[in-house]
Amino acid sequence: MPCEQFVAFQDDRGVHDGNSKCGCGRLSRLQVAGKSGKVKSRGLHYVCAMGGCGFYAPATDDRGEQYGLSEGLLDMFVQLKLI
Ligand SMILES: [Zn+2]
Repeated sequence: MPCEQFVAFQDDRGVHDGNSKCGCGRLSRLQVAGKSGKVKSRGLHYVCAMGGCGFYAPATDDRGEQYGLSEGLLDMFVQLKLI
Protein backbone atom coordinates (compact mmCIF):
# COMPACT_ATOMS: atom_id res chain seq x y z
CA MET A 1 0.00 0.00 0.00
CA PRO A 2 1.53 3.31 -1.03
CA CYS A 3 2.34 5.48 1.96
CA GLU A 4 1.64 8.79 0.25
CA GLN A 5 -2.05 8.08 0.45
CA PHE A 6 -3.84 10.17 3.05
CA VAL A 7 -6.90 8.06 3.48
CA ALA A 8 -8.52 6.91 6.66
CA PHE A 9 -12.11 6.01 5.96
CA GLN A 10 -13.68 4.41 8.96
CA ASP A 11 -17.31 4.17 7.99
CA ASP A 12 -19.18 2.63 5.13
CA ARG A 13 -20.78 5.82 3.88
CA GLY A 14 -21.31 5.63 0.17
CA VAL A 15 -20.61 1.89 0.10
CA HIS A 16 -23.72 0.23 -1.25
CA ASP A 17 -24.54 -3.23 -2.51
CA GLY A 18 -24.37 -3.07 -6.27
CA ASN A 19 -21.43 -0.67 -6.42
CA SER A 20 -18.65 -1.83 -8.71
CA LYS A 21 -15.77 -3.71 -7.15
CA CYS A 22 -12.43 -1.95 -6.94
CA GLY A 23 -8.98 -3.44 -7.55
CA CYS A 24 -9.02 -4.89 -4.01
CA GLY A 25 -12.14 -6.89 -4.87
CA ARG A 26 -14.31 -4.95 -2.41
CA LEU A 27 -17.35 -2.76 -2.97
CA SER A 28 -16.32 0.71 -4.06
CA ARG A 29 -17.47 3.91 -2.41
CA LEU A 30 -19.74 6.47 -4.05
CA GLN A 31 -18.27 9.95 -3.73
CA VAL A 32 -18.90 13.38 -5.07
CA ALA A 33 -16.23 15.52 -6.69
CA GLY A 34 -14.81 18.40 -4.72
CA LYS A 35 -16.10 21.88 -5.25
CA SER A 36 -14.49 23.69 -8.13
CA GLY A 37 -15.15 27.24 -9.24
CA LYS A 38 -17.03 27.09 -12.50
CA VAL A 39 -18.75 23.75 -12.29
CA LYS A 40 -22.36 24.03 -11.17
CA SER A 41 -22.94 20.40 -10.40
CA ARG A 42 -20.55 17.95 -8.83
CA GLY A 43 -19.83 14.67 -10.49
CA LEU A 44 -20.55 11.41 -8.75
CA HIS A 45 -17.93 8.71 -8.97
CA TYR A 46 -16.79 5.50 -7.34
CA VAL A 47 -13.46 5.07 -5.61
CA CYS A 48 -11.75 2.40 -3.54
CA ALA A 49 -13.56 2.37 -0.18
CA MET A 50 -10.37 1.57 1.72
CA GLY A 51 -7.98 3.74 -0.25
CA GLY A 52 -6.01 0.60 -1.01
CA CYS A 53 -5.93 1.03 -4.76
CA GLY A 54 -6.38 3.77 -7.31
CA PHE A 55 -9.81 2.67 -8.45
CA TYR A 56 -11.90 5.40 -10.05
CA ALA A 57 -15.06 5.07 -12.13
CA PRO A 58 -17.56 7.79 -12.93
CA ALA A 59 -21.18 7.05 -12.00
CA THR A 60 -22.99 7.25 -15.31
CA ASP A 61 -26.53 7.02 -16.56
CA ASP A 62 -27.83 4.94 -19.46
CA ARG A 63 -26.37 7.40 -21.94
CA GLY A 64 -22.94 7.19 -20.39
CA GLU A 65 -23.11 10.68 -18.93
CA GLN A 66 -21.79 11.22 -15.46
CA TYR A 67 -24.33 11.97 -12.76
CA GLY A 68 -23.94 15.37 -11.20
CA LEU A 69 -25.47 16.89 -8.09
CA SER A 70 -26.36 20.51 -7.56
CA GLU A 71 -25.42 21.95 -4.17
CA GLY A 72 -29.00 21.59 -2.92
CA LEU A 73 -29.23 17.95 -3.86
CA LEU A 74 -25.76 17.35 -2.50
CA ASP A 75 -26.83 18.47 0.98
CA MET A 76 -29.77 16.11 0.80
CA PHE A 77 -27.65 13.16 -0.29
CA VAL A 78 -25.18 13.81 2.51
CA GLN A 79 -27.96 14.02 5.09
CA LEU A 80 -29.40 10.76 3.83
CA LYS A 81 -25.88 9.30 4.09
CA LEU A 82 -26.01 8.18 0.48
CA ILE A 83 -22.63 9.73 -0.10
ZN1 LIG B 1 -9.37 -0.96 -3.75
